[in-house]
Amino acid sequence: MIPVTKTFLPPQEEYNSYLQRAWDKAWLTNRGELTLELEDKLKNYLNVPYITITNNGTMPLQIALKLFGKGGEIITTPFSYVATSAAIVWENCTPVFVDIDPEHLTIDETKIEAAITPKTTAILATHVFGNPCAVTAIEVIAKKHNIKVIYDAAHCFGVTYNNESVFKFGDVSTCSFHATKLFHTGEGGAMFCNDEETQHQLFYSHNFGHNGPLEFHGLGVNAKISELQSAMGLALFPYMEHIITERKKVTDFYNTNLNFKNLKTLKIRENTEWNYSYYPLIFDSEETLLRVQEALGKENIFPRRYFYPSLNTINYISSNTMPVSESIASRIVCLPLYVGLSSEDLERITTIINRLTS
Ligand SMILES: *Cc1c(COP(=O)(O)O)cnc(C)c1O
Repeated sequence: MIPVTKTFLPPQEEYNSYLQRAWDKAWLTNRGELTLELEDKLKNYLNVPYITITNNGTMPLQIALKLFGKGGEIITTPFSYVATSAAIVWENCTPVFVDIDPEHLTIDETKIEAAITPKTTAILATHVFGNPCAVTAIEVIAKKHNIKVIYDAAHCFGVTYNNESVFKFGDVSTCSFHATKLFHTGEGGAMFCNDEETQHQLFYSHNFGHNGPLEFHGLGVNAKISELQSAMGLALFPYMEHIITERKKVTDFYNTNLNFKNLKTLKIRENTEWNYSYYPLIFDSEETLLRVQEALGKENIFPRRYFYPSLNTINYISSNTMPVSESIASRIVCLPLYVGLSSEDLERITTIINRLTS
């Protein structure tokens, strides 16, 4: 079977040697040495001023919304994973959707200002598939209206924009280290910011507000990563360059071998160094998508409909229609993309797609 993605696992003995350190100390969580070491390695590798690693990629969104959303209206994208809008609703804020740019698939920055009201407290936008939002324009809008910017950068491990980590943009930026993401700890994630005051708020929030064993800095929750998760991150870390190089080869294969006459893929924003996290393919209609999906399924090849449905249509949400997002969501799949996908399999995938779309 060829799935949309396959988790890259480091050699088990390398993982075990990190686990041994947790065993030796009988220390499994609460920011043990493995967590501190991983956090430090990531901080240097990503070249960011502040990072807190967490138990998953959703809690950082909820923490940022708790601190900066303040129960207000949050301007957000309808084209993302459900975690983006669910976090807004979960934190008792109101999602206000703004449609996406049909080329980059990120929130359409030219439509944001029209959606701002006196109740707007923040923008939560996704760098979807690792493609940066129009961060410069969004920053100008946010400053002008005195609202915060939170980026769901779940897909962005290793991405740079204008030679800086994309995690540096916005007041807070988050990442997911879920097993299906580029860099993973099984479950895990991180939150990033650029100033000490925000870092304090994020950091204390993720550990019950603890300021030492008996004192509390403020309200908090438990979003701590465990040593078992951090061990996976440390074991995987040395393979990141290899993973990104191999994924680039698969991406290059699709780019050269697909017939784009009736197909489109993601347009990466200029000045971006991308991470090859997904290979989205946009068909001319949902009907074509379903025909291709059926043909690939018969060959045991399973692309995924990322992201479907458009989040403004989910049953616990009320929203205007978002024509661009709804149209793209109905016509887009992500193709198989992982280390070890053979050229024979890639050949089969592209041949089937080309046969049904050219
Ligand atoms: C994966 C993902 C998340 C959630 O991350 P978890 O680590 O699974 O909690 C949030 N937003 C987007 C866009 C994602 O793809």
